[in-house]
Amino acid sequence: MSTTEDRQLRARVDELREELNYHAKKYYVEDAPEISDYEYDRLFYELVHIEQEHPELDDPASPTHRVGGKASDRFEKVTHSVRMDSLTDVFSFEELEEFLSHVAERIPDAVYSVEPKIDGLSCALRYVDGVLVQAATRGDGTVGEDVTQNVRTIFDVPLTLPEPLSLTVRCEVYMPRAVFERLNRRRAEAGTALLANPRNAAAGSLRQLDPKVTASRALSVFVFNFQEGALYADGHAPVSHTETLDRLHELGFHTLEERIRTADRAAILAHIRHLGEARDSLAYDIHGVVIKLDRLADRVTMGEGTATPRWAVAYKFPPEQKITRLEDITVAVGRTGVLTPTAVLHPVRLAGTTVSRATLHNPDFICERDIRIGDFVTVQKAGDIIPEVVCTHPDRRTGDERPFRMPAVCPSCGEPVFREEDEAAVRCTNAACPAQLSRGIEHFASKDAMDIDGLGPQIVESLIREGLIHDAADLYRLRAADVAGMERMGEKSAANL
Ligand code: ZN
Repeated sequence: MSTTEDRQLRARVDELREELNYHAKKYYVEDAPEISDYEYDRLFYELVHIEQEHPELDDPASPTHRVGGKASDRFEKVTHSVRMDSLTDVFSFEELEEFLSHVAERIPDAVYSVEPKIDGLSCALRYVDGVLVQAATRGDGTVGEDVTQNVRTIFDVPLTLPEPLSLTVRCEVYMPRAVFERLNRRRAEAGTALLANPRNAAAGSLRQLDPKVTASRALSVFVFNFQEGALYADGHAPVSHTETLDRLHELGFHTLEERIRTADRAAILAHIRHLGEARDSLAYDIHGVVIKLDRLADRVTMGEGTATPRWAVAYKFPPEQKITRLEDITVAVGRTGVLTPTAVLHPVRLAGTTVSRATLHNPDFICERDIRIGDFVTVQKAGDIIPEVVCTHPDRRTGDERPFRMPAVCPSCGEPVFREEDEAAVRCTNAACPAQLSRGIEHFASKDAMDIDGLGPQIVESLIREGLIHDAADLYRLRAADVAGMERMGEKSAANL
């Protein structure tokens, strides 16, 4: 390899590591991901491939050498007796076929369990003499957090077993879609920030210091693996994964639904397609399908890789897309004065939530994609968080569609707007612009800054409209009596604020 290539590759490796570390922290420590799991996994496997091909670039501190993130300091740490591994991801049927062929070389009569990959938070449940004694999050796979008090509030986690068995199982804690939507409706009414998706809502709910909050969130679990211990009092040891799950179900565990056991490749692919189509109608979010060897002896034959087992893979679904009508384009003014066009969509179900708005970024984005008001558009959730418009469908136009023009004046203050020559953004430069002021104060009150509880966007706007505040410093001069007179503000919430 030439030195230039060497340097470029090394630079890419550094870039990937830095990016992966940043996003892992956002995801695991702050519960605030910025990119989709799908994108994250792509970056992750790009790095894995480079490190495998160029072992000289490998480093024990590389993010590929650990499975997940750091445990937060708020909970006791738990060292798992059986490592909680993650799986190798595959993104296409070709990659999946490669895995199946690789297994077939060593195990010609391989039998697989094919099951949905629930989009939640992985936990280990430990029972001693039939009593739940500990629940721990996966953390980095070796050390997790003790969330026993919180997990005890989950209704489908048995607190005792019908037999005095000592065992550990692995489950996925998730928030049912219906619960997630109810929770976000209440948050919208209260003017508090909406939760990004059911998975983050589940993670946030499980890592509450107050178990009462967890209890109010109505979480659920699916048990998907027997980790260790005794499943029968007489010492009988099951020979397959399916047998362990059937037995766990008998013991009162809520085991994974929608799984099949098969030796037939065509049946595996058919079940993946089926789950992909059923995805929308399930009561919970899934983000892929797990294909694993069913006979436990076969798993021993295939063995474990350095970071992931060789007896299973996870097939990841691509980001979900839907077609809907773009009914209007509105323009909002941000904290720095940037005017951002937003698509108002005919509401559509996407990746577990109802979507009625999508970002259009800036006027160039709209122009390049020739997005018109009235168009049918394909939308997807980037990062399964922020919906975005992917493309339009000109073949479905009726002639009534209207091109969009950026307003010449700020929609908030009416002052003329400006666009720098080399910039995509259009800005309002009026220092006294009320929209900028309220975004600024919202930011000041947000979790990332001062974390002022109960100061949502609606309250900020009312305070500005009533002339009670003109900048962030005015917040400290506010008295409960000033605030209590406002709409939607009771005496109690005014005092809290
Ligand atoms: Zn303005």
